[in-house]
Amino acid sequence: MGRLLYYTKSVCPMCLETVYAAIEEECDGIYMKKECKEHGGFKTLVWRDNAKNYLKWLSFGGMDVEKLPRTTGEVDREIGEVSFSGEACAQPCSGALMTTNRCNNNCPVCFTRDSSEPLYEPSLDECKNLIIQYKNKAGDNALLELCGGEPTVREDIFEISKFASQNGFHYIQLNTNGIELAKSGEYCEKLKASGVTTVYLGFDGVTQKPYINKYGRDMLGIKTSALENCKKAGLAVVLVTCVIPRVNDNELGDIVAFAKANMPTVKGIYLQPISYFGIYPKGDIRRITIPEVLRSLELQTDGEIKASNFSPGAYEHPQCSFNGCFILSKGNRLKSLTSFSKKERNPEGYKRIRQSIKNTWMPGRVPMLTIGGMAFQDAWNIDILRIMSCSVQIIGWDNKMIPLCSKYLTSCSGEKIHPGIS
Ligand code: SF4
Ligand SMILES: [Zn+2]
Repeated sequence: MGRLLYYTKSVCPMCLETVYAAIEEECDGIYMKKECKEHGGFKTLVWRDNAKNYLKWLSFGGMDVEKLPRTTGEVDREIGEVSFSGEACAQPCSGALMTTNRCNNNCPVCFTRDSSEPLYEPSLDECKNLIIQYKNKAGDNALLELCGGEPTVREDIFEISKFASQNGFHYIQLNTNGIELAKSGEYCEKLKASGVTTVYLGFDGVTQKPYINKYGRDMLGIKTSALENCKKAGLAVVLVTCVIPRVNDNELGDIVAFAKANMPTVKGIYLQPISYFGIYPKGDIRRITIPEVLRSLELQTDGEIKASNFSPGAYEHPQCSFNGCFILSKGNRLKSLTSFSKKERNPEGYKRIRQSIKNTWMPGRVPMLTIGGMAFQDAWNIDILRIMSCSVQIIGWDNKMIPLCSKYLTSCSGEKIHPGIS
């Protein structure tokens, strides 16, 4: 029996029914515990640290931990009408346009695809309408991500980007596995000319192992060629790593070294502890949580990067993300510009975050590197208090913005609360 920290709501991973969940401290970490009337109890690690440090992290992310719901009645009062099937409550920092669910790879692990889903691909006109709808809703300064599946399987991806650029999006991010970008420098030049500023490149390590595990084949050469072509075309690159225990959690230090060697084209490293939605190996659930990622970064860089350089996101729920910013200084060392410090929550905070992403992830010569990450949620650990302040949202039909974690929520048997891809 653990020590109760607070109550929230989650879902049963078998049937996706909403259930109350207790967040409790045990001797080796913080756990979510919940029970479905039909499918029994579930217990999942959410934070590998003690309660003192966990609550300090939440508090530094701007939460009043004294006011966390201590009873199920308080949870109901706190969340009101918010549900996992509803729309996002907060303004998005970033909106993702799902351009297709086709892909040019067939990975054994994928957040965004589901092999059982029929083909979904909005027409060019539909994409244009969704972009305008998003702009009207999210306002000026909004950031746009072009996602898939794999967005580069669309021949008209340049037209989509060009349309967004002409309609006031100054930051356009292409989320890609890099296969098309590796094939030709000309392709990257066309992306740049169409308005894409930043390539969010899946990059799981500097050895073959994580690629064979995640993509089913070695892709390191493709990733480095894609990066070289982006460099020549003047595109900024963010390396995006799905961190999987015993697969690539020992490569974080080497990824930092690789990023340093490719600055200022590489603007950021974004670490995503593996979550279990979309496509994943069933029956092999391994967790790594944010404090473990931060400790690994410190250990594997021999203290060049320190866990104390990072703060929680203070617009989204603090348990969702961490961020740090560094500058390459004398002796080829990364010097931290940020530290673990208390932030204020502010409903207008999305404006500052949009601006900060533009400042740090757009092409430019300043040798700055952000290191951050987001711990997406799955049916085992999803928490309605986190969904309520979700900052990364999917552009849906009918003027709807859906929190990414509810959008992709997948039950053990592959069912979804939000089926389809938009
Ligand atoms: S996408 Fe998920 S992890 Fe990220 S801010 Fe939204 S709820 Fe949190
Ligand atoms: Zn159930």
